[in-house]
Amino acid sequence: MNGTVYKSTGSWYTVKTEEGTFHECRIKGKFRTQGIKSTNPIAVGDHVVFELETIGDESVGVISEIKERKNYIIRKSVKLSKQTHIIAANLDQVFLLITLNNPTTFTSFIDRFLVTAEAYDIPVVLLFNKMDVYDEDEMAEVNYLVQLYKEIGYHCIEIAAKEGKNVDKVKELMVDRTSMFAGHSGVGKSTLVNALEPGLRLKTAEISEQHLQGQHTTTFAEMYDLSFGARIIDTPGIKGFGIVDMDGDEIGDYFPEFFKLKSECKFNNCLHLDEPKCAVKEALEKDEIAWSRYRSYVQMVTGEEDNPYRERS
Ligand code: GDP
Ligand code: ZN
Repeated sequence: MNGTVYKSTGSWYTVKTEEGTFHECRIKGKFRTQGIKSTNPIAVGDHVVFELETIGDESVGVISEIKERKNYIIRKSVKLSKQTHIIAANLDQVFLLITLNNPTTFTSFIDRFLVTAEAYDIPVVLLFNKMDVYDEDEMAEVNYLVQLYKEIGYHCIEIAAKEGKNVDKVKELMVDRTSMFAGHSGVGKSTLVNALEPGLRLKTAEISEQHLQGQHTTTFAEMYDLSFGARIIDTPGIKGFGIVDMDGDEIGDYFPEFFKLKSECKFNNCLHLDEPKCAVKEALEKDEIAWSRYRSYVQMVTGEEDNPYRERS
């Protein structure tokens, strides 16, 4: 039988078949893990093949195969000597909630998130939330950001989760897909989920990040079916993705507007920093690339929080 993993406790997996029935499954004996080495061989969202075995008067599923993952997100545990844990697999999209204040979402955070998602091959939709509270200046700032990210190619929606404004647009994108919500604590993730599906309580809301930091137990993700034919993956206490190991020269490829210009740089391995005849720097000087994006890029490549380009925007 074919199915999708909805929940995992580490030794048991709840798998939903294509027909819609749930089965508790285990892994038998040595299981060949796929690609990446992780503490968990199977994650929520994985597509698996399993057979039912009858033990006494109970029937238990035994997973024999895991289908190739379209994508996955990981977390590295510092406590467990940098072991990798796969949080979830086969995501169709991630919604990143952004607020200008209470809390502030900095462009450096947005850009880092987008780069990671590009590296993971997961589409991101930017949701600018709390549109009901912004004054004129803040509204202008949101409009600027929406314009900026739209031009790069990201889908942006301005919403007010509390009032239900444009929640239907989010819903529309979610039908028949597996989604996840991300963003700083307080941006409105639980409010949005509640507007989408009244009554559904997610772990994201219940467990704060501080609370999690003291523990070294692994927290497991869980998938939920929503009434309008959407699936969401709930992950407690995760505001972004785990850090991906990226080489410096790879990062520019994950800024789509930089990547487009790369072939026009004099050097084909141009890092767009101090190289002569760099098409990215030239576009930057012409304001065709946003300073905030370039600043985020330099921060990521050099690993410097403070960089010489900071004062120039
Ligand atoms: P989470 O930590 O991301 O789950 O954020 P919550 O959903 O708990 O929201 C944090 C606070 O922001 C709560 O007081 C919400 O009522 C408020 N909030 C969420 N969405 C909106 C919105 O669209 N407009 C306004 N004014 N407040 C909102
Ligand atoms: Zn360049």
